[in-house]
Amino acid sequence: MPSCRSCGAAAGALVLDLGEQAPCDLFPLVTDPGPDPVFPLRMWLCGSCGLAQLVEDPGTAEEPAGIEPRALTEQAADAVRALTEAGIVRPGATVAEYGSPHGGSWLPLLRAEGMRETGERADLVLDCFGLMHEPDQRAAMAARAERVAPGGALLMQFHSLASILAQEQWNALRHGHFAYYSAPAAVALAAPAGLRPGRSWTFPLYGGTVLLELRRDATPDAATDELLRREHAAGVTDPVRVAGLGHAAGAGARRLRDRLTDCAGSGRRVVGYGAASRAVALLRHAGIGPELLPEIVDISTAKHGRRMPASAIPIVGPDTLRGDLPDAVLLFVPDLLAEVRAAFPELAGHAEWILA
Ligand SMILES: [Zn+2]
Repeated sequence: MPSCRSCGAAAGALVLDLGEQAPCDLFPLVTDPGPDPVFPLRMWLCGSCGLAQLVEDPGTAEEPAGIEPRALTEQAADAVRALTEAGIVRPGATVAEYGSPHGGSWLPLLRAEGMRETGERADLVLDCFGLMHEPDQRAAMAARAERVAPGGALLMQFHSLASILAQEQWNALRHGHFAYYSAPAAVALAAPAGLRPGRSWTFPLYGGTVLLELRRDATPDAATDELLRREHAAGVTDPVRVAGLGHAAGAGARRLRDRLTDCAGSGRRVVGYGAASRAVALLRHAGIGPELLPEIVDISTAKHGRRMPASAIPIVGPDTLRGDLPDAVLLFVPDLLAEVRAAFPELAGHAEWILA
């Protein structure tokens, strides 16, 4: 078994096993018959620091930056407003960003507030979903802490494990994402790098996203104390509670398969929407192929003419939703519901929405 990517401890528990999965950033051409390579996809919870983490990774290339969902850009604006009110974002201060390979930079917003980028130490070191992509969590946190100028702060944003548990978002687990932070595990990761928690903000993005302030001299404010207490109480460091994700995965996959089998049996045509990485594991775990889901719409033209990894489901353009209207749309990214509805008004009153 592994040793912890944060604290190095060897004791822990396997909490989620999604079996053999294709790298979710591999979208073969529809003409490529496969078989596609598959790798174990498993989550382990450290018994010492409580960090939930990816066990093994195929080491393949990251999914390229796609078109950002509106929910992501709106949250970035909300977060920058909160940081401006808190005095962390201010004109003339310097910023260094550790971005996510999926895109979503806050730099344009920060520049508009008068901040300056620097390659040196910065008043604000920003990590927005970047750190989770680092295999060596301890080293990556140390590198970020090193970039914090005297009196400065590291702002770390993560999709909280507490939200993943509360909403049974087991398919947040994917190759290339090495860590699934709770607030307590994030605090434990920051401590050896000399950083302590100060203020924190939570946003509804992905069902619960935390922005945590870390400084050399900080003390947690009341909201952060309460966040840590609430997440502990929710069982984020308890292997039995976190293993609930594994049970949810099995049940969720069976439910979706039954739903699509019903639709197929009654001759109702279902189209998928959003060939996102999270769809890959769900489809394979549920054993869903083109016989149950004949196509998946994605607005990224780079994916058209390709298919889902480890399944033969082709990825097509949005025109599919405008011509021969489907009876139902299976949405793999529930956050997109409002904007997909708005983009395809012709579906209203015709197609049912199924949220994966
Ligand atoms: Zn650990």
